[in-house]
Amino acid sequence: MCGIVGYIGHREAYPIIVKGLQRLEYRGYDSAGVALLSDGLQMHKCKGKVSDLTDLAKAKNVSGTLGIGHTRWATHGPPSDANSHPHMSQSGRLALIHNGIIENFESLKEALSGRGFTFQSDTDTEVLVNLIEDIMLSEKLPVEKAVRIALNQVIGAYAICVVDKERDGQIVVAKKGSPLVIGVGQGEYFIASDASPFLEYTKQAVYLEEDEMALIRLGESLSIRSIPSDKVVEPYVTQLQMDLESIEKGGYDHFMLKEIYEQPRSIHDTMRGRLLPDQGIIRLGGVSEYKDKFLQADRILIIACGTSWHAGLVGEYVFEELSRIPVEVEYASEFRYRNPVITEKDVVIAISQSGETADTLAAIRLAKSKGATIFGICNVVGSSIAREAHAGAYTHAGPEIGVASTKAFTAQVTVLNMMALYIGYKKGVISSSDFHRSLFELDAIPGKIEKMLQSNEQTLKIAEEYKDSKNCLYLGRGYNFPVALEGALKLKEISYIHAEGYPAAEMKHGPIALIDEDMPVVVIAPLSMHYEKVVSNVQEVKARNGKVIAIVNPADKEIRRSLPFPCSYWPITSQ
Ligand code: GLU
Repeated sequence: MCGIVGYIGHREAYPIIVKGLQRLEYRGYDSAGVALLSDGLQMHKCKGKVSDLTDLAKAKNVSGTLGIGHTRWATHGPPSDANSHPHMSQSGRLALIHNGIIENFESLKEALSGRGFTFQSDTDTEVLVNLIEDIMLSEKLPVEKAVRIALNQVIGAYAICVVDKERDGQIVVAKKGSPLVIGVGQGEYFIASDASPFLEYTKQAVYLEEDEMALIRLGESLSIRSIPSDKVVEPYVTQLQMDLESIEKGGYDHFMLKEIYEQPRSIHDTMRGRLLPDQGIIRLGGVSEYKDKFLQADRILIIACGTSWHAGLVGEYVFEELSRIPVEVEYASEFRYRNPVITEKDVVIAISQSGETADTLAAIRLAKSKGATIFGICNVVGSSIAREAHAGAYTHAGPEIGVASTKAFTAQVTVLNMMALYIGYKKGVISSSDFHRSLFELDAIPGKIEKMLQSNEQTLKIAEEYKDSKNCLYLGRGYNFPVALEGALKLKEISYIHAEGYPAAEMKHGPIALIDEDMPVVVIAPLSMHYEKVVSNVQEVKARNGKVIAIVNPADKEIRRSLPFPCSYWPITSQ
């Protein structure tokens, strides 16, 4: 995820771009850059925030009425000046900004290297700009034609803006899987990831659809084409109604809600280019490099805090089931201070959204000093934990602005699942057919979450009914026990209602005494192997007049039959 801004018109582009980037910083903020076309291409870019960019550009030439700008959230290569966008093609003729991931960048890079291209950055983006240049120069095509041909060779997601310094007065843009909107003003065009950078200039916008590209030329109408078919598409102009704040939050009331709704996308991005069901493979560079360490490990230690610790507990269940390697999950804050036994045959998986969690960092340093192999799962590329680990796998969830973690949790669980499947398969614990079936099932998860999120109306009714409760219990068994813990943590953190998560069967060993008509009990009860047992737990709660909020499959019969509508069941999980 990142923010892109472009301008072509009669005004100075730089101030418009910088202000636009500041508004888009919620989409990414590890580096920033601009390219302006006047007297050749002027490029300024650096690691850091947009304010670092403006400091850098203070005494520099920032004139020009055509420009593009980027605020980055790294996916390929750590935040650095060299990895910041825009990226220039080898000859210096093209400048390109990109939001997304080019999955096949390695094979494209290899082919381009063979044709004499060299690269200044670690990014997938620089490969794309050189691919376009290679096609443009070798086939003597105008840049827009070369962009289309290049994009047909690309697998992945992108919103891009391309400037050709020999074609003043035009910008080429394209979109697949990442957002891009064009603001249409009087004799000027704006380009951005969302409409917030140009709202004060125009309310007329054209949202590019999937697989579309546009040639934006000053003094001419937009020329939109389909990337696969090259067919001309009529621009559809929308009149914008939203204000700045609601655009930033994607129309949601809070960032947290927006991030909850982003999960189909963030999980998909986390699996992008790694989970390849049709080819029957999982590709995780760090895991395959350290495969032998995993295969020979005496145990796996998962170290984390808070929500990441809950993801780690899911990881324990899934690793033990699929790979038969013993797993222990530790709170980093306990581990680092308690003189734990660590050996060279331990593999430590450290999980942290930010990659900066101080206790987790200290814990992995301790484990590393005892010879353990450290594997990081972080969301922030180039973060401290990512740097200290021997290897790792990033969650590509995009920046998490909401203080209570949501999409990072599911992205972590996604990475852990892919890792466990990979190791379990390599170890011969799971059969080839189970492995292949699981790949397709994982691949289907984003679509299922999408469906599940459509039951928000029901969720609202439940929240309304129970908002004044003082306490709440969350119950789950198996994989859903850590999920119950995570649910209780979210309720505490966000609503200040006291909540506890329990393995459902533990309820009878104490907490059952708390259940009465004032106690809502969230029971996670999908149709899994524990279903019948969970149904018995629901009966126990009912017998004490507790209020059950059951999370069930649409096909569930038993729990629905025994609980009165409206707020007692919550058919939000899909099969
Ligand atoms: N994949 C590109 C990079 O790592 C773009 C990331 C983004 O969307 O900010 O530079």
